[in-house]
Amino acid sequence: MAARRTGRWVFPVLAAFFALSSFGLPAVDSHGEVGAAATDTPGTAVLAGLALDGLPAHPSVSTTQVYQGGAVRISVAAAATGSVTMLGRTAALLDGGQGTLVAILGVGTEDAVGPTPLRVDIVDRWGEAARFDVAVEVLQTQWTVDYIVLPPGVGGGLTAEIIQAEEDRLRAIYSGVTAVRWEGIWVAPVDLGLFPISGYFGEQRSFNGGPVSGHHGGTDIGSRAAGPSIEGAAVAATNAGVVVLAEEMAVRGNMVIVDHGGGVFSGYAHLQQLAVVAGQPVGKGQVLGHAGTTGLSTGPHLHWELAAGGVLVDGLRWLDGTQGF
Ligand SMILES: [Zn+2]
Repeated sequence: MAARRTGRWVFPVLAAFFALSSFGLPAVDSHGEVGAAATDTPGTAVLAGLALDGLPAHPSVSTTQVYQGGAVRISVAAAATGSVTMLGRTAALLDGGQGTLVAILGVGTEDAVGPTPLRVDIVDRWGEAARFDVAVEVLQTQWTVDYIVLPPGVGGGLTAEIIQAEEDRLRAIYSGVTAVRWEGIWVAPVDLGLFPISGYFGEQRSFNGGPVSGHHGGTDIGSRAAGPSIEGAAVAATNAGVVVLAEEMAVRGNMVIVDHGGGVFSGYAHLQQLAVVAGQPVGKGQVLGHAGTTGLSTGPHLHWELAAGGVLVDGLRWLDGTQGF
């Protein structure tokens, strides 16, 4: 094959090989697509992504099958900068320690089910660009449905404007990206053995006989369950980060939001009391407040939400290892 002598096809073959070996699945486009920069400079393309130890920079993803409401963690060793793109959303690859760049991409409740490309663009330490395309499949989540009757008086003071203002404020916070502070595994905010799940993420709801609509943006813990009341129970940070909000909200009541960096945030709502202030760094497992029933709530419970790249995702999937992290 004459084309090989030009070197033009060497990198695609290598890219396909390393991508396949990284993922262990036929998850890569069989053409081993490369970006324009690498393709247009065949003489150097084969070097693109080579690390100091001679191994090419290559991405690894935590899973290639992700549910609606799930998330994927991407890490790249031996790259200088980079970004990942999936479902029309792009996240920067940021320093995750130990010479690795990391990013977590969320999949929304309404994102399309089926095959979707995950594109990884990197620039190595010599300034060479490389691109990897990973085949990811979005799997359908069966959302639960709940019919909620709000007692008279509950939520009565809330207007559409107040609710929208709170949503807008949270959306603005969740769109932020700071240096990565999360590390290792993610932990539950309360003991889920003691306080069972009472409302799942993504649940569709009907209030007072109205139409079923929307998706619950978090996980409710400890309400309508047998066993001890969650009221007053300590609520802990699910990972390390910095408190970016600790105040009373109209819908979510007393709320704490922790910025874990890399576009990942966790929120803890309806708290009885706050134990932290905005701007305060917190460690994984540190107490943020105590569970209660403030805001739009019919009884003591913890509403725990998680956002990645501006997308609300199912926090429970971050606890059981099924996403590969
Ligand atoms: Zn909730």
